[in-house]
Amino acid sequence: MRILIADMKQETSTFNPTPTVYDDFRIYVGDQIVTKFTKTKTELSGAFDVFAADGRPEIVPTMAADSVSGGPIQTACLDRLLEEITEEIRKVGAVDAAYFCLHGAMAGQDEIDPEGRLLTAAREILGDIPLVISLDLHAILTERMVDAADVIVPYHTYPHVDQYETGQRAAQNLLKLIDGQSKPTVARVELPMLVRGDELITATGRFGQAIRMCQDIESSETGLAAGVIIGNAFTDVPDLQSNVIITTNDDPETAKQAAAEIGRFMWENRELFQADLTTLDESIEIAEATDGLTVFSDAADATASGASGDSNKILEGLIQNAFSRRALVPIVDAPTVDAALEAGVGATIDVTLGGTRDPGRFEPLPLQAAVRSLHDGNFRYENGTQGSAWRSVVLVAGNIHLLVTARPIFVVGRRAFEEHGLNPVDFDLVVVKSPNGFRPYYEDITTRIVPVDVPGSTSANLKSLPFQHCVRPIFPLDEDVQTPWDNEKSA
Ligand SMILES: [Zn+2]
Repeated sequence: MRILIADMKQETSTFNPTPTVYDDFRIYVGDQIVTKFTKTKTELSGAFDVFAADGRPEIVPTMAADSVSGGPIQTACLDRLLEEITEEIRKVGAVDAAYFCLHGAMAGQDEIDPEGRLLTAAREILGDIPLVISLDLHAILTERMVDAADVIVPYHTYPHVDQYETGQRAAQNLLKLIDGQSKPTVARVELPMLVRGDELITATGRFGQAIRMCQDIESSETGLAAGVIIGNAFTDVPDLQSNVIITTNDDPETAKQAAAEIGRFMWENRELFQADLTTLDESIEIAEATDGLTVFSDAADATASGASGDSNKILEGLIQNAFSRRALVPIVDAPTVDAALEAGVGATIDVTLGGTRDPGRFEPLPLQAAVRSLHDGNFRYENGTQGSAWRSVVLVAGNIHLLVTARPIFVVGRRAFEEHGLNPVDFDLVVVKSPNGFRPYYEDITTRIVPVDVPGSTSANLKSLPFQHCVRPIFPLDEDVQTPWDNEKSA
């Protein structure tokens, strides 16, 4: 039983002007994929363990290409990437089934649906074999993806902590298909809404109730997979909206009913799914007054959501407000990293910080800083996967420590700081570049979390962004948004 494995992940903010290029992807081919992902907290690892427990499958790894989130992928780079993955799929010959591990919110400068294009090409090569995909719940769900996949298995948690379990569910679905035990029937409800804010936290928020409804369907007699795919609000492509997608085993009626019920629940709660942001000055006052650690969520410059990572707005605010406590601030700035590497540890250098990747939003901020440490930029994230800042340095300017990286990294967990000799518990204020994903790593050491309202290409203040392509009208950008039910009433 030969099961093909492919992986392609990047999350795009089309509002980030710096394109993602081929070299931004960490690429593994063939058996490297098994070596690199086994015993990690990833979908692939979860799938491998299910296949191993079953005993029958032979894993046929093709290519895994993963990049930190970022701007749209340069056309030639995306073409090359898709051609290479497709070629690896072609090379392995006949297989019995395929598992594609995808993020789902990728966009190219020209190609608006890279995952759909990959799956369509794969289908042409593989023919009518069982094919399951897993998706981040921030995926942009497209017709091509729905058409190509027998079963779509989305994450059930936000912040995402169920990658491994999602891979397990995908693998279990694949085995059922191979054994002829399931005949997928899919129902999808499209919801013209973009969602943000605390109510999306599945452990505590209203979105979690919708996910629990999905899980009830999954565990019902005919349930195969269910999820609410809310899209990455910053991937401004024609399919950007929210979706409910339910797959049952030869039971279209249950799938349809469940999708409608969960869709209505999401829609009726739409006003709750908006972010409550705090002004920068007020945020800094809170951090001054808080006993213990304050975490600022710079969701507007979330490298986890596709932003450029070179925002200096919070840094500038801390300096202007003469913030008096120990602060830890990450920022992307390749020229400053190089200047620090050149000057060496202990040197004091005059540099500018920020505005190198999104100069339309951020102006370089002049600063004098001491070079504390120099790094090759390689480290391991909490989930066991490899991170690369290309090269990185730690600078100190008064009471502010700066982790300066040559390119964007995920600043979600604590590991990215710790591996640079910076322990968040040693600070009174830590800035993270993540809207909510940081919470599992910080909640037990943090007194106060503040979502700060500063500009950026992934701002939770959606009306501040120049949407051009997504489904319109759409909540909350437009008034009088039509839902499928409005049409029902008038029919
Ligand atoms: Zn996500």
